[in-house]
Amino acid sequence: MLSMKGGKGEASYVNNSQAQAQHARSMLHLLKETLDLVQLNSPEIPFVVADLGCSCGSNTIYMIDVIIKHITKRYEATDYEQPPEFSAFFSDLPSNDFNTLFQLLPPYGGGSMEECLASDSHRSYFAAGVPGSFYRRLFPAKSVDVFYSAFSLHWLSQVPDIVLDKRSTAYNKGRIFIHGANESTATAYKKQFQGDLAGFLRSRSKEMKRGGSMFLVCLGRTSLDPTDQGGAGLLFGTHFQDAWDDLVQEGLITSEKRDNFNIPVYAPSLHDFKEVVEADGSFIINKLDVFRGGSPLVVNQPDDAAEIGRALANSCRSVSGVLVDAHIGDRLSEELFNRVAHRASSQAKELLEQLQFFHIVASLSLA
Ligand code: SAH
Repeated sequence: MLSMKGGKGEASYVNNSQAQAQHARSMLHLLKETLDLVQLNSPEIPFVVADLGCSCGSNTIYMIDVIIKHITKRYEATDYEQPPEFSAFFSDLPSNDFNTLFQLLPPYGGGSMEECLASDSHRSYFAAGVPGSFYRRLFPAKSVDVFYSAFSLHWLSQVPDIVLDKRSTAYNKGRIFIHGANESTATAYKKQFQGDLAGFLRSRSKEMKRGGSMFLVCLGRTSLDPTDQGGAGLLFGTHFQDAWDDLVQEGLITSEKRDNFNIPVYAPSLHDFKEVVEADGSFIINKLDVFRGGSPLVVNQPDDAAEIGRALANSCRSVSGVLVDAHIGDRLSEELFNRVAHRASSQAKELLEQLQFFHIVASLSLA
């Protein structure tokens, strides 16, 4: 079962999600534009926000706070005397480290909603965790005002079966990702992505309140060709791929063991994404664009090749380590990521220059 690396260790998601934080902050103006479109109901009815794919870091807490503060401001600018009570749902797969997340939450303010909203060190909403896959229903019908999801929708619900089937032309021989793979493999991944996204939209269209809106950010690519996965391709398709090949060459794993491992990520093009939204038809597109997000590597010493190597390995491990551990065990996983760090440090300068993420940003409202 997929999850980001829990806990607070060196390769944990908590300690390797600063880049996501920076990228999300650079898009705050777009998020606020979406929030300005949300219809405000009577403050007697709680206002409900859900973060889908919240993970266990502090990014989700920051974003929920931004959303609630913005909506509060909007209420204050109306004739309503006070803002509503807020409910925030933190949703992720059941394997997510909800314990770490809940420990990071600031304490609930307790007193009146106004007091909570006025205090930065307190929580101004009722929090709850919702375990489950966002490709299915998670909430009752017409119950959520704002859906937010960042850096999550590029995770597929599964590696397509035919990609793991040795008899199929889509079998991803020699590779652990679709970057540079053959066309059948890429088509299988694309189909999986589009089917998954369709399930996501179907579920959200039922769960959203009338007048609600949704802000989505996921990894994307600028190339039309799905076998060129851009930043995701560099992250998973170069040093990480080579490190798997090292383990095979050194006889630590069989080539079949490597070929049976595939990263269930697909960075869509704008066109891949748009096709699904249009075919679903439940949502109006307020905005749908691809943005340059920047590098996933946050380093203190850009001249220190070893630090850059470690940053790449940790970044890769924080998001894929749990899957790797499950596939080859903790000891070999350690070997693998040491090799990733070593290989990456030998091309540190190129990595810093070339490793750039692009993101699809979608602002959608119910049609
Ligand atoms: N939104 C956070 C975390 C992104 S990491 C941030 O901005 O930093 C991606 C998250 O998506 C992970 O926690 C992963 O478990 C979650 N995820 C992936 N597939 C999912 C699915 N099908 N349903 C729910 N969450 C999923």
